[in-house]
Formats: sequence, structure tokens, C-alpha cells
Amino acid sequence: MIMNTTQCPSCGHKGMIDKVLEETLTYGGKSMTLHDMHGRFCPECGEGIWDEESCRRYTEAQEGLVRAIKGDPAADIRRIRRKLKLTQAQLASSFGVGKVAFSRYERGETRPPAPLLKLLKLIDRHPDLLNEIEKM
Ligand SMILES: [Zn+2]
Repeated sequence: MIMNTTQCPSCGHKGMIDKVLEETLTYGGKSMTLHDMHGRFCPECGEGIWDEESCRRYTEAQEGLVRAIKGDPAADIRRIRRKLKLTQAQLASSFGVGKVAFSRYERGETRPPAPLLKLLKLIDRHPDLLNEIEKM
């Protein structure tokens, strides 16, 4: 929703100014600059509101940056599972978790528990371990 008011939500100053500028995001030592960001800014207190499009781009860029640093567990799990040529249900059964667990992880709905992810990465390097797990 684009706000039509030109009143600053922070200090109440009337006369927010439309600006187009660059915004640099930083996370975990990485940074990314977004160009052509549109927003309204308060000349009094410096408060700023991005317009809808810029706000969406800001959020996406931030999520992308976090993924770049932390890795993307959803993509990791999918890649490893496909490499092992297993369905989500088969993998769930090997690990003794609910049938839909891997579907949720791969869609990014649920963040997988860290030990599970580590175990999968271990199996990724040593695929024969999967046989051992299935016997447990
Ligand atoms: Zn203000």
C-alpha cells in the first residue's frame, strides 16, 4: 500500500520529500547496492518510507543476502536427495521422520534441524552411510 500522506510518521513533520536513491545493504561482511530506490523522506528527522516496489526489492535483496551467507538449506536438501535418487517419502522413512517433513524443508516452509542438515551433508560426501542409516 502506497501512503499518500506527506506527513512524517515519525516526527509528524509535513513535507516528506520524494527521492530516488541508492541503498546499500550489508550482512555478514557482504554488501549489495540497490539502485533506483523510490521513497519518501523526512527532511526533519531522516525517517524514510520506501514505496511498494522498492520495499519489495529491499526485502528480496535482504533475503538473498542472508541466503548467500547462511546457505540455502532447502536447495541443499533437494540437491542431496536427488543425488541419492530418493523420493521425499523414502528419505523421510530412512530418517524416521514424518512423510511430509522433507516436502516442507524443500519448500522452505520449515527450517530443517541443524543436526539433520549436517547428517545429510555427511551422507552427501559418503553416500554409503545411507545404507547404515536404513538398517537402524
Ligand atoms: Zn520526521
